[in-house]
Amino acid sequence: MEQNLFVYNTLSRKKEKFVPLHPPLVGMYVCGPTVYSDVHLGNCRTYISFDLIFRYLTYLGYKVRYVRNVTDAGHLEGDAGDEGEDKIEKKAKLEHLEPMEIAQKYTIGFREVMQILNILPPSIEPTATGHIIEQIELVKLILQNGYAYEVDGTIYFDVEKYNKTQDYGILSRRNLEDLLANTRDLGGQEEKRGPLDFALWIKAKPGHLMKWPSPWGLGFPGWHLECSAMSNKYLGKQFDIHGGGLDLVPTHHTNEIAQNMAACHTNPAKYWIHTNMLTVNGQKMSKSLGNSFLPHELFTGQNSILNKGYSPMTVRFFILQAHYRSTLDFGNEAMQASEKGFKRLMNAFTLLDKLEASASGEVEIAPLLQRCYDAMNDDFNSPVLIAELFEASRIVNSVYDKSLRIDEKNLSLLKQLMHDFIVDVLGLKNEQAAGDDLPNVMNMIMELRKDAKQNRDYATSDKIREGLQKIGFQLNDGKEGMTWSKL
Ligand code: AMP
Ligand code: ZN
Repeated sequence: MEQNLFVYNTLSRKKEKFVPLHPPLVGMYVCGPTVYSDVHLGNCRTYISFDLIFRYLTYLGYKVRYVRNVTDAGHLEGDAGDEGEDKIEKKAKLEHLEPMEIAQKYTIGFREVMQILNILPPSIEPTATGHIIEQIELVKLILQNGYAYEVDGTIYFDVEKYNKTQDYGILSRRNLEDLLANTRDLGGQEEKRGPLDFALWIKAKPGHLMKWPSPWGLGFPGWHLECSAMSNKYLGKQFDIHGGGLDLVPTHHTNEIAQNMAACHTNPAKYWIHTNMLTVNGQKMSKSLGNSFLPHELFTGQNSILNKGYSPMTVRFFILQAHYRSTLDFGNEAMQASEKGFKRLMNAFTLLDKLEASASGEVEIAPLLQRCYDAMNDDFNSPVLIAELFEASRIVNSVYDKSLRIDEKNLSLLKQLMHDFIVDVLGLKNEQAAGDDLPNVMNMIMELRKDAKQNRDYATSDKIREGLQKIGFQLNDGKEGMTWSKL
């Protein structure tokens, strides 16, 4: 097991040596999606980044328990996630469906996208609605310890009281005075004692659908609470890594730490890892800003900002070409460059099997292998790793065209290096050979065409059918729905 891994910890704002609490076990919790709409490419960036981390830790020999929740209740609309309507319930009412139908639909869609992007499933994917009892127990503990108060069936966390003995801004590095000076007025939430207080448990208003009995009456848990309850349940009071997007630092993760400290007297995670944002023209990709697009729009090119479609592995490669802590701006030119780069890498990868060893060689692979490890050990630096893999590709090409000789031992090391780092660590696969994913991709395309037809956008629906025909696929509109076959 490699002992020289350094990870950037948001808590200390430094790269720290990675020393797990109970090696070889590693506990990692990552905040999962709120399943009220399709995941956009920005969300995918975060999940690809943690997939890289999960894969590398596993590759090093750690036994990783990776927990990524599904938020299927309690995430309200306001910036902090605890004001306004429940996101899932709002969508359910709009579409005349049960909230659980909405959660089911988008959970399935989410898993499909994860699979297409070759993101490994986590070890446990717990849901908020499946852990109401654990959340109620946690609220009881926080109340008992004196850090929360009840107002008419709603329980609030008392931030100012907590900050008297603890540092509420430990993760965000903001002090309470500044935070208080910058908060809006209580706007309809006068029942809170302080403007920074947040709801742990919320009384269900008349007409609210997703509600459960509790010692404080019918209600539902707050969004921040579920992650504290579920990480605690599956990974213990303290575990190794807690992750999510950088946008979760000021509120969601800040509140999670406060809850865990108030209930269990410990910061839940030793290392807090945050991924930077995917941007479009410098602006964070987000559903509310209207600049987001869906992975399958990217695969098919069906979005006005795209010149053409890109394969799922090109998208994954594009994302991995930036370090997870840098911002990454989406653009057609950058995508085209990634498409070329990915092809170059995969061409070399397929040539590997055709290489012949010579009796004596002119190249040593061990230093290159060490540089691959060094890149990943330096806070999972995938762009530097990819640069080293291009160096490996150059060697492959030179051996193939006989301008460089390699001996047996180094050839087998080169094959192992390319396989380990491209397939196992970066999670890239050769799409030419990846027929397994075709049904998923076709389902997505058919879904798009169905939407187009429903919107009477016949131009798009015809374009999809004709486009597929050109590359050898026939779509059949039958009574049972759409099916496809190879021509
Ligand atoms: P949400 O479903 O909005 O709670 O987001 C799910 C995850 O995606 C969270 O960890 C967010 O921090 C992350 N996320 C949201 N937008 C972006 C973005 N533009 N780039 C990278 N990660 C994002
Ligand atoms: Zn969370």
